[in-house]
Amino acid sequence: MPLRFYNTLTQRVEGFAPLTGNTVRMYTCGPTVWNFAHIGNLRTFTFVDILRRWLRYRGYQLDHVMNITDVDDRIIQQALAAGQSLGEYTAAYTKAFLDDAALLRLERPERLTPATEHIDAMVKLIAGLRQRGCTYESEGSIYFRIASFREYGKLSHTDFSGIRAGTRVDTDRYDKADARDFALWKAPKPGEPFWESELGPGRPGWHIECSAMAMHYLGDTLDIHGGGIDLVFPHHENEIAQSEGLTGKPFARFWLHAEHLILESQTMSKSLGNFITLRDVLAQGYPPEAIRYLLASVPYRKRLNFTADSPKAAATAVERLRNFELRLKTEKFPAGESEWLAARAEQARQRFEEGMDDDLNTAEALAAVFEFVREANTAMDAGDFRSANVAPALDLLERFDRIFDVLRPSERAGGLSDAAVEALIAERAQARARRDFARADQIRKQLAEQGVILEDTKDGTRWKRH
Ligand SMILES: [Zn+2]
Repeated sequence: MPLRFYNTLTQRVEGFAPLTGNTVRMYTCGPTVWNFAHIGNLRTFTFVDILRRWLRYRGYQLDHVMNITDVDDRIIQQALAAGQSLGEYTAAYTKAFLDDAALLRLERPERLTPATEHIDAMVKLIAGLRQRGCTYESEGSIYFRIASFREYGKLSHTDFSGIRAGTRVDTDRYDKADARDFALWKAPKPGEPFWESELGPGRPGWHIECSAMAMHYLGDTLDIHGGGIDLVFPHHENEIAQSEGLTGKPFARFWLHAEHLILESQTMSKSLGNFITLRDVLAQGYPPEAIRYLLASVPYRKRLNFTADSPKAAATAVERLRNFELRLKTEKFPAGESEWLAARAEQARQRFEEGMDDDLNTAEALAAVFEFVREANTAMDAGDFRSANVAPALDLLERFDRIFDVLRPSERAGGLSDAAVEALIAERAQARARRDFARADQIRKQLAEQGVILEDTKDGTRWKRH
């Protein structure tokens, strides 16, 4: 079965290939830099990262655009309250977002574009919509007339035909019950930043920025548009109305949405005050790779219930894989090949790939890897793992890590984690007990390379980092 994704637009799983050539043209909605990203936001960005990596694994090239929303209602409010300019205020949170992304090893999209650098493209798009009769003005603001777009509601699968025409909503974020004509260009209020334009002075609404930047860089029809599930309405519904209202062509062929992250079984939300940031979790001592693993391990269309124990379980899973990799690289195995294990490695690779092809079913892909690791560890203990089995096992780990990217410890964590150091020390003690001093020395050297010093005492081995 080929690569396939669940498409929110058609509500079906569909085989995926780019429209033209080998390049996937993709737009995903970026952060609004009014505050720190919470761990639920970062789940969506991790999903996008896994999507990018899997598309490339399958041989595609990427032209991926992600915006940084650096002007909207909340940012303006916060910047005014802090007595800062828009640019000063958003620079700090843009940097915080990029730091979080780097800690989680999220690849940079080919283009990361701040909204305020694309005001011209937005003005042009609004002027085009005005020409086509899709807009009207009121008190210096310009609104999109949703009655002008017959298919309004097709993404969220909602019938909006009964709503009263001509009523307006000025805020960027609202729910279905509030579906009304929405602002494309907002007249400046006293003290607020604004841009001079052919539309008059003002600033863009949130929705128009994504339509404008997506089409500016990627053309009228994208292969993939993605984001969090909370963006389906109104944000993506409005993006479709604006873009297709202008071009008359499909705006995006595939719409992919990541489900919510639930914090101890409650939806995380800044407005509800129950949210945690990556910094909060890292402050508890977990390595960032464990959090990356945790966010990636639940398939993106399933809710992820984040509990106090989740990071620990993820850290343990990562540790198991690292220990397995270490065994492969350091233990000496008898010559030859166990044929059944070679076959199991091949099956694991296939099952891993089939899982990922199936709408990025990361749980299935991980199950394939862990099952193999369990069998191989058992075979190693029984002396049934042979030297020719090493390369295919390492190949499986390499394929896994091209997507999940958790095997290399962060520099911050000082190389090996404490658990990995302890495991090696225990293994060294066993080697010494069976008078395998070559292996014991090898482990001592390996730890020294990682900056870990051992001290043997009559009470056992102590260790420290230097
Ligand atoms: Zn967007």
